[in-house]
Amino acid sequence: MIDINNISQNSWANTKISILGAGKSGIAAGTLGTHIGAEIFISEGSNSPEIIEKISNFNHEVGGHSNAVLDADILIKSPGIPNDVPIIKDCESQNIPIVSEIEFASWFTSSPILALTGSNGKTTTVNLLHEMCISDGRTSLLGGNVGMPFSENVLWELTSNINNSVHVLELSSFQLEHINTFSPTIAGILNISADHLDRYADINAYATEKLKLAAQIDKSGWLVFNADDPILAESLMNTTRSVAFSLKQNEKCHFKLNATKVFSGEAGNPDILFNFEDTKLKGFHNLQNILAAATMAHSFGISRQAIHNSIINFTPIPHRLEWVGNINNVDYFNDSKATNIAAAIAAIESFDDNLILILGGKDKGSTDFNQLIPSMENRVKSIMAYGEAGIEIKNQLNEYLSVTYCEKFEDALMSANVQSKTGDTILLSPACASFDQFSNYEERGNKFVEFFTKLELAN
Ligand code: ADP
Repeated sequence: MIDINNISQNSWANTKISILGAGKSGIAAGTLGTHIGAEIFISEGSNSPEIIEKISNFNHEVGGHSNAVLDADILIKSPGIPNDVPIIKDCESQNIPIVSEIEFASWFTSSPILALTGSNGKTTTVNLLHEMCISDGRTSLLGGNVGMPFSENVLWELTSNINNSVHVLELSSFQLEHINTFSPTIAGILNISADHLDRYADINAYATEKLKLAAQIDKSGWLVFNADDPILAESLMNTTRSVAFSLKQNEKCHFKLNATKVFSGEAGNPDILFNFEDTKLKGFHNLQNILAAATMAHSFGISRQAIHNSIINFTPIPHRLEWVGNINNVDYFNDSKATNIAAAIAAIESFDDNLILILGGKDKGSTDFNQLIPSMENRVKSIMAYGEAGIEIKNQLNEYLSVTYCEKFEDALMSANVQSKTGDTILLSPACASFDQFSNYEERGNKFVEFFTKLELAN
């Protein structure tokens, strides 16, 4: 067995590593494991032709997890695999150490790690942070839940002559399960709201995974957190070596806000860093994301100029409150990535009025759509509800607002278009996952953009 508390003492030659799951991160961990001389076995539940092709370079099994997995000194578990599957129980009863791909990859890099978690806004924030690091002359390697698997970036570092590198990591709650000695220089936590309740017993269980990151920072590191989030404020306010960010006045913040202007520097001698109105991002949730990235970058030592330039030049990432265009004085916004209530609320609150809101898709677990009502007040004119969750959405909200149910996504778009009048905004911010009709949120967002483009050509 491997002593996961004492990794530097370990020799990897002939060490047996089993990897559960042949997704991007599982394959990348297998490649890194092979590079360091370990014996790799990958076990995958699916047996699709694409999986078989990807896995063929390794000793492997497909179509299920047999006891062959247990012939291992250590197990790397992919984030998508729940903790209660029998093979995990068997590993635990045989005392085989279980780690995540993030933990494993971290053993082979000594570069600084800037890691961010949260329920919403991670991808936007890490991309901005990555830009800030690049703008400051660092070799920034963006990975984790976005971009490359961490293992792939670490392998690239090991096999090339790069220096001055820094890892910028987006971490989901699943990736924070089974971490041990992983220790970022800067750890950021954006917000905690209900999500993935199909996998966690309740919001407390989900929050516990997210909060784990706070305990992992290295001795010279900093924790950066959102002081406006009630769970984070309560749990983290007294943490030593922490810096907050906030849309309100708060002593623990490095960057201070006055309306849309952000300042840093001593009280009485403030220096403006940027005006939110000069950026290409919309909505106060995005100002929070900017403050998170800027605070993490500053705590790491990135120059003020690099932080400023990156903020001013940053364009929204596709499918995140992305302005698609305007036809007949109706704006179209694609926020397909808003797959939970908090994300949809943030998007709705970014507008003043005249919204036609498209909700629906696959419910992530008994969602109470009534939570949208306070933010919809005076902003949303009507709702198009589609897909598997559509009828439930209509049942819950129909008393409050006009809700049109369409089974198919395309029909919901058409209805939104037919109902729209000059000055309206059609917002896709569905508050549900996409998997009932699409492979992922990108495919759903692309369908929205395609619909817009066809409409534009027809006009
Ligand atoms: P993640 O990677 O955490 O899913 P993204 O940057 O991809 O985050 O944004 C996902 C969705 O969450 C967006 O569509 C947007 O509507 C919403 N969102 C972004 N930032 C925030 C935030 N700080 N608070 C609440 N919702 C947000």
